[in-house]
Amino acid sequence: MATLISGKDISQKVIDEVKAGVAELHHQHDVRPGLAVVLVGDDPASQVYVRNKIKRAAEVGMASFEHRLPADTSQTVLNALIDKLNADPKVHGILVQLPLPKHLDEGHVINAIDPAKDVDGFHPLNVGALASGENALVPCTPLGCMIMLKEAVPDLSGKHAVVIGRSNIVGKPMAALLLQANCTVTVVHSRTRDIQQLCKQADIVVAAIGRPEFIGAEWIKPGAVVIDVGINAIEADGKRRLVGDVDFAAVEPIASAISPVPGGVGPMTIACLMQNTLTAARKSLQV
Ligand code: NAP
Repeated sequence: MATLISGKDISQKVIDEVKAGVAELHHQHDVRPGLAVVLVGDDPASQVYVRNKIKRAAEVGMASFEHRLPADTSQTVLNALIDKLNADPKVHGILVQLPLPKHLDEGHVINAIDPAKDVDGFHPLNVGALASGENALVPCTPLGCMIMLKEAVPDLSGKHAVVIGRSNIVGKPMAALLLQANCTVTVVHSRTRDIQQLCKQADIVVAAIGRPEFIGAEWIKPGAVVIDVGINAIEADGKRRLVGDVDFAAVEPIASAISPVPGGVGPMTIACLMQNTLTAARKSLQV
């Protein structure tokens, strides 16, 4: 039986630490970290994500600034808002909820955010800093995965990690963080040959592909540690439920530790967004 790596419990620890850090900053410097969240359009999933982020910010004692813009907002109007938030000293973190409506250029918006306020860690300056091992604001989901992994494997040095998926928001930054932690890293994707055999060699598997229960027992070396990033909604017995990219029931008896879905990486992502906002606020004060 694998140990459960509970994102629910670990994220609560992160939230408690952030809450204490926010209180300290307020007490010592009279500064309250502030997070601006921009939502364009009315995508229902994005509305839920934004609501949860605002709720968490309030819980840790941060200020939050919610900007809801209509789906037909122009690039000029969105850029003007980003400029305003970049210049606002009360705003330490800016998050533009993705995906944006099709007529807007996501790359342009990410590039417009001040890298010091880029709490999603998507700006090319932060991406480059992470890749070259410098101090960076790191994307929240892989940051959360690393915190979870370190709970399960305190010394990651020399471990063989296989990252399944190479997206900019999960796979690539995850690989960079594992490399920084002295793992030997293999990144596999949809064009990889013998993907199962490669995964079977891994001490650590991080799955981020967006395919429900795709990774079965035959992919996993006995005793491996498995982090499941996938969040997929499926219908079973007439009910909708969330599953990961890993077939939890099949893999759990083989792995030494595994994160569940739900209650795994999901809560870590929001907790790390709060952590990044606190980090950005501290950096702005040079403390
Ligand atoms: P993405 O941008 O769609 O990237 C998926 C990656 O998986 C791509 O690199 C793709 O390869 C690879 N892939 C797809 N099918 C594959 C297959 N059959 N075999 C091997 N590789 C395959 O997705 P993402 O944004 O990284 O998200 C991945 C999953 O994580 C999704 O379920 C998403 O909902 C979830 N997620 C969760 C959180 C959270 O907070 N827990 C945050 C972000 C994402 P190619 O590059 O070759 O196409």
